Amino acid sequence: MLRIVPVKAFKDNYVWTLRNATHAAVVDPGEARPVLDYLSRERLELAAILATHHHPDHVGGIAELVATRPVPVYGPRKEPIPALTRPVSEGDSVRIPELGVDFSVIDIPGHTRAHIAYYGAGSLFCGDTLFACGCGRLFEGTAEQMYASLQKLRALPDETKVYCGHEYTLANIGFAKTVEPGNAALEQREARDQRLRAAGKPTLPSTLGEEKATNPFLRCLEPAVVESANKYLGARIADPVRVFAAIRDWKNRF
Ligand code: ZN
Ligand code: FE
Repeated sequence: MLRIVPVKAFKDNYVWTLRNATHAAVVDPGEARPVLDYLSRERLELAAILATHHHPDHVGGIAELVATRPVPVYGPRKEPIPALTRPVSEGDSVRIPELGVDFSVIDIPGHTRAHIAYYGAGSLFCGDTLFACGCGRLFEGTAEQMYASLQKLRALPDETKVYCGHEYTLANIGFAKTVEPGNAALEQREARDQRLRAAGKPTLPSTLGEEKATNPFLRCLEPAVVESANKYLGARIADPVRVFAAIRDWKNRF
């Protein structure tokens, strides 16, 4: 049976590890050490490495991992990924026979220019694009690109489990409450996620349905979000891309 477990790296990164009784695949191994420790403790053989984008906190461990075992390395075709052997982009699929899973690749540029997501087994691995109650910064792309990428992810089924790259949830909820103070679902989410963190547990995965109900970056047509964006800008806008750009900018300064 397939299980998905978080292996922690750095301060707040998760290396999502897909495993059965004998094999494992890892998503965004920014560090090798915690992954190697987990694999040896659990007596698992590495089967594949999947990268969502080129930032060091997501790919920094790849070279050391493939040195221990030459597994396929999947990653965005148009980004510099160490030891990349299987460049992929939207329309491609990723099959990991040892785990009996298939993923389809979705192009989601914005945080980086060729950032990708992996979608399969009811799960979405979205790196630093969609976060729990937030979204990634625009380092290499435009607000238009990021908005379109988030809209693509938003179209997946509500029950899709969202596995993002960082534990940023509580800080993101703090910002979301400022943008949309009257959203009761946010209060509930905050109470639950505070309990999880107090117990030392990840707030992830969330579900896409939850994100649609609470994540301001997926709610750019909500009147309350539009109103807050207008107050922040001191201007009257309604276009969802401009609303998105305004709250992304606001979050940078929050
Ligand atoms: Zn990143
Ligand atoms: Fe990151």
